[in-house]
Amino acid sequence: MIAQLTQKGISDKAVLDALMNVPRHWFFDSGFLEHAYEDKAFPIGAGQTISQPYTVAYQSQILEVKRGMKVLEVGTGSGYQASILMEMGARVYSIERQKELFEKAKRLFRTLKYNPKLFYGDGYKGLPTYGPFDRIIITAGAPEIPEALLDQLTPDGIMVVPVGEEDQKMVRILNHPEGEIDIEDHGDFRFVPMLKDKE
Ligand code: SAH
Repeated sequence: MIAQLTQKGISDKAVLDALMNVPRHWFFDSGFLEHAYEDKAFPIGAGQTISQPYTVAYQSQILEVKRGMKVLEVGTGSGYQASILMEMGARVYSIERQKELFEKAKRLFRTLKYNPKLFYGDGYKGLPTYGPFDRIIITAGAPEIPEALLDQLTPDGIMVVPVGEEDQKMVRILNHPEGEIDIEDHGDFRFVPMLKDKE
């Protein structure tokens, strides 16, 4: 799997080391373990998927995470991406809107060495009382850039978000202390949708 990621252009050693050190099968249900090291997305329940390893690696690489940074993840899902970020030395806050997946991730993290702060709620709102965050990573397809989250970025912060309805462009937003932002396009991806809060 790591060789494939390198071939596809992942070059950040911290990212590759993290993918090497976090066993992806921990995040799979027992019946499907043989699929854990294929470079494919896979169902994790509640109609959601664990992202493809390449996507996890790519998002992690362009997020430019450094040890000690405070990172907000939207879409905990299986907890795999959160674990990769923790393995890279980040302090991770992760939000999930599906109760079932939130509970499952909470149970799983009790048995792992990683200890992200997990929240059940709406990622569109972020976590204003815990911010600002050095990095924000969204792991579901957002119809547009979630504005409320931009306000929770540090002045030099970076946000990575797949934007689009059916297919998404990977967008990277660089915040600048003077107030303006840079928006970069990092190519085509496909995610499950980032949904509005449950009523
Ligand atoms: N990062 C996950 C990938 C999960 S797929 C992993 O490593 O496994 C995307 C997840 O985003 C799903 O679990 C979905 O329920 C969640 N999601 C969708 N909309 C959301 C929202 N508004 N707030 C929080 N989570 C959301």
